Amino acid sequence: MTVTIDWLGCATFRLSIDGLVIFLDTFMDRVSTAPDTGITTADVTEADFALIGHAHFDHLAGADVVAKRTGAKVIGSHESVRVLREAGVPEEQLIGSQGGEHHRLNEDVTVKVFSSLHSCIWTRAAPAGTSLEGDLGLTEDERVGLRASAGPRGGRRQLDPALAKEMAELRENAVSSNSHGGALDYLITTPQGTIYFQDSMGYWTGVMSSVSADVAILAASGRGNIDGEPIQGSVEQFITSEVQMLTPKRVVLGHHDNWVGMPDVPDIADLSPVHDELKRVAPDVEVIELGFMDGTTLF
Ligand SMILES: [Zn+2]
Repeated sequence: MTVTIDWLGCATFRLSIDGLVIFLDTFMDRVSTAPDTGITTADVTEADFALIGHAHFDHLAGADVVAKRTGAKVIGSHESVRVLREAGVPEEQLIGSQGGEHHRLNEDVTVKVFSSLHSCIWTRAAPAGTSLEGDLGLTEDERVGLRASAGPRGGRRQLDPALAKEMAELRENAVSSNSHGGALDYLITTPQGTIYFQDSMGYWTGVMSSVSADVAILAASGRGNIDGEPIQGSVEQFITSEVQMLTPKRVVLGHHDNWVGMPDVPDIADLSPVHDELKRVAPDVEVIELGFMDGTTLF
């Protein structure tokens, strides 16, 4: 049995396990200024399952198209499933989960679902290599206020009008929710080994520390969320803390390309601080930054 992985941009991956095709997120249709990954939903003719981390546009979009064309079953939060049901995906293809479920994908492969957390999009974030402190202990009202006071898009750079229009059209024509709907992580078990998939930088310590995996696919952008509070530290410290819990042999990094298509932003974020910190703390772990669609063999 051979297990291969393709990175399809953002936090979207495709696993192929001896003919069993599993999408991890389904966001592939991007603005024209985003780096070209070589695939769009229009190219997808084969899928057996799609595992959706959360219901935001840059993760759930495309799931309806893939499901309807291929007959793939979709495992996701009840919010993701609600959106897909409203988009006309047949009920028998929808598997709502909240964490704690164990689903069979074929006679050899199963997946466990874990409750997770979305990154702290209500507060400041910084690229790898920069440490952030503060914003602890705030109520949701205070978090909403903080985000609003930071200006449009939480103080991040505004999109230029043409790009904003293109992004708005993409969102209008795609399935997604304004709510993340509860983030989920997945542990896929194959006869060859286990693969953990996470699509946003957050975790419950009590949950993640109970899991181990041979390969960990970890999101690498944003302000990490640890047990509901923003990390006091950096992206690389967040990822290192996950690696210490999951104890993988290999780490695949995701969510670090310029999927928004911002001008003057590199196609792929510089994650050398993550590599350096992992080399220091977990020198035996191999860190893989996949290229798009390069068919890497995991097992
Ligand atoms: Zn999100």
